[in-house]
Amino acid sequence: MRLVVHKYGGTSVGSIERIKAVAERVRHARALGDQLVVVVSAMAGETNRLFALAEQLSDVPHPRETDVLVATGEQVSAALLAIRLQALGMPTVSFLAHQLKIVTDSRHGGARIRSIDCSRLRSALDEGNIAVVAGYQGVDPEGDITTLGRGASDLTAVAVAAALKADACEIYTDVDGVYTADPNICPEARRLERISYDEMLEMAGLGAKVLQLRSVELARRFNVPLLVRSSFTNGEGGTWVGQEEKAMEDVLVSGVTLDQNQSKITLTGVADRAGLAARIFGPIADAGIVVDMIIQNASADGRTDLTFTAARGDLRRALELVRIVAAEIGAAGVRHEEQVAKVSIVGVGMRTHAGVAAKMFAVLAAEGINIEMIATSEIKVSVVVNSKYGELAMRALHDAFLGREAGAAKPDA
Ligand code: ADP
Ligand code: ASP
Ligand code: MG
Repeated sequence: MRLVVHKYGGTSVGSIERIKAVAERVRHARALGDQLVVVVSAMAGETNRLFALAEQLSDVPHPRETDVLVATGEQVSAALLAIRLQALGMPTVSFLAHQLKIVTDSRHGGARIRSIDCSRLRSALDEGNIAVVAGYQGVDPEGDITTLGRGASDLTAVAVAAALKADACEIYTDVDGVYTADPNICPEARRLERISYDEMLEMAGLGAKVLQLRSVELARRFNVPLLVRSSFTNGEGGTWVGQEEKAMEDVLVSGVTLDQNQSKITLTGVADRAGLAARIFGPIADAGIVVDMIIQNASADGRTDLTFTAARGDLRRALELVRIVAAEIGAAGVRHEEQVAKVSIVGVGMRTHAGVAAKMFAVLAAEGINIEMIATSEIKVSVVVNSKYGELAMRALHDAFLGREAGAAKPDA
């Protein structure tokens, strides 16, 4: 008998009708004889609604209480799905994180899973039940409720699949797989049959929210193959996320991503001396703010400009810290842009092909889009551009690297 983990996202359980449809799908899968664990997200919009309630009561709601609040979204959908499955005559038990001992550290809002005790889950399955598990939540060693970060019901699903050594982990969502670009922004995007963990990691980290970043990391570490498919259609479809295969290198670029959630901060007139970068970025790191790209201009008359990007949600705190340091080190000023776009191309084929970045820059130049920052890794090139050109840049790059005509234009293939 196979053991399969299904995960249904917010839109997939977004209404009573949708929950009924998910229950039908689960019944179907169970009829094939598989043991089933079903991880659910909160109903669409619910987590945002809960965060907004807290913000109406306090400018800085305490993270511990925020987690008590926002974890309820998943409790509701887990109970509703279990109730529906039972109504269809399927023995079902729902579980919250504390009942499965999904133990995390105490970083409220972004907790990391330390361990899962599968014994209760196993006995429920062995007794012939379907197990429905609330995603997104954990419990810390003191017994306090934690949450694992936005979009992290994917992570719950992969963690449970890894802990149970499940045969498959199927992520059901509102698109029928991983596309070459977000199909809601780029109508030309195509579904990928398969994609490597490394490429999916880059894409998730660069703004393709179809899979949460840490869920992909965990899937790679424990070698859990993921199948991303639609909960809205019955077609085969889907995308496999798994180990890299030789043939994958033949494809130059697998995907294009857009992240509109970035901000840019510039310190101007910084003295070009040893130790200043550490002075600037030390306090930012201590505050837990992740800095993404950094550029420092060549120095003119002993002074230079230093620009970096960070997530938009961290902008306010980053600015406060940078303004303090800027005054201390005698920088000329601090400027910021609240929203910039990061557009990236990703593909393992880049390791073995030259000229990819050059072609990317030429495509953007042809559209008249100015590149403000550049970062590269072995399998990706990212650029920061003015946020109003983000979608245009994405579509132009998709056209050039992945459009119908793209094959002919491969550099150095
Ligand atoms: P869920 O609520 O099921 O977790 P998400 O909204 O988190 O769903 O993720 C699905 C969404 O991810 C899609 O609706 C799509 O807009 C977006 N997305 C971004 N990039 C991609 C991509 N490359 N392929 C598929 N979907 C993508
Ligand atoms: N409900 C949570 C969120 O909206 C987790 C998830 O949907 O995966 O972020
Ligand atoms: Mg999601």
